[in-house]
Amino acid sequence: MVIHPAAAGTGIRFRRTDVVGCDPQILALWSALVPARLSTRVANDDGVEVGTIEHVMAALAGCGVHNALIEVDGPELPILDGSAAPFVVKIRACGVVALDAPLEVLRVTRPVQLVEGDAMARLEPARGFSMRFEIDFADGAIGRQMRTLDLANGAFAHVLADSRTFCRKSDVDAMRAQGLARGGSIHNAVVVDGDVVLSPGGLRHPDEPVRHKMLDAVGDLALAGAPLMGRYVARKAGHALTGRLVAALFETGAVERITLDANAAQLLPGIGLGRPDIPLSA
Ligand SMILES: [Zn+2]
Repeated sequence: MVIHPAAAGTGIRFRRTDVVGCDPQILALWSALVPARLSTRVANDDGVEVGTIEHVMAALAGCGVHNALIEVDGPELPILDGSAAPFVVKIRACGVVALDAPLEVLRVTRPVQLVEGDAMARLEPARGFSMRFEIDFADGAIGRQMRTLDLANGAFAHVLADSRTFCRKSDVDAMRAQGLARGGSIHNAVVVDGDVVLSPGGLRHPDEPVRHKMLDAVGDLALAGAPLMGRYVARKAGHALTGRLVAALFETGAVERITLDANAAQLLPGIGLGRPDIPLSA
């Protein structure tokens, strides 16, 4: 895959370089979401899809990149180490282009909340962009974790980017038994078995799982199509619920598009992130 710069107003788009005879371009927008198992997938009107987009979407949003064209030669993005750090390192090493255009953001104007079983996700008005996430797993290696984070000042790269996706050994075994070769492994996910972390080296942070859930949410919320100004609060939410929350935000008219001045833009993710920060996100 290759990430190219793009003009203001482009948003984030994918182009499938292996597709011929139909539209190879897919918009990274909530309206393009299609069902996917434990990941985020978008499709265009021709049915051309690209999946597992959440980590690169999070890396771009977290680095303050709002316009880009991503070329990929297949229907899935590379999982790499299961975190967003490899994307962040590359984006920061290459640098970003500052566009000579005002920054448009989507300001949440009133709370929107979805509840499904014991999962909940909410967006509410706030300055800047912040989140609170809570998970509660029976597995002792994960357990109950909660974290609150203001995403300003490069917090995405410093706090969230290197946290890897996680799964249970029993789920990996079940997927292998079904012949699904793309299941998690200790090389692209934190694999837990009850109280034990099987991945070599253990966890990168004691609360790596909840950090990764926040990373996923940053990527899924980026499907709004522009930076969100608001606060995201979630409990046990997954990709599908956060995707539906973004849809509900637009469908209920709880969002307005505004132009930010330079001072207000300082509150958003990616601002204040410089090249010296690259090792911190590795
Ligand atoms: Zn993830």
